[in-house]
Amino acid sequence: MIVFNLGCENSHRFEGWFASSEDFERQIGSKLVTCPLCGNANVTRLLHAAHIGKPVSKERRPARAESAAATAQQYANVGSEVLARLVEHIVENTEDVGAAFPEEARKIHYQETPDRRIRGTASRDEIDALKEEGVEVVALPIPAHRLGKTH
Ligand SMILES: [Zn+2]
Repeated sequence: MIVFNLGCENSHRFEGWFASSEDFERQIGSKLVTCPLCGNANVTRLLHAAHIGKPVSKERRPARAESAAATAQQYANVGSEVLARLVEHIVENTEDVGAAFPEEARKIHYQETPDRRIRGTASRDEIDALKEEGVEVVALPIPAHRLGKTH
């Protein structure tokens, strides 16, 4: 089915449902479509309101697609054992800075402190802000038994 916005000679507006645009042309040509308000048979197709006036910008589309891809979560089918070992490895090789993580990560990024691997906690907003500044961070599924341990 296809829906068209239609109008009659008396400026009434209504929707018409057709099997196809060919069906629409045929019915309009045979004056089979009449205004439901006044019965006028001189019905014409109207453009959708959204298509009138502003030209559609084609430039914004790719940008929106990119940001959607960038916010998608990453997944790997490595199995929980591999992931646990990886997390253990990361925990062993990073310095736990706790809640100071966003600040420390930023300092490292801007070379205000020696470059090193750190981990810690951050809010979603803080992570978004870091990523906007170009700081590379990843979310870690650290198991409960490793939380609070420095090594
Ligand atoms: Zn009418």
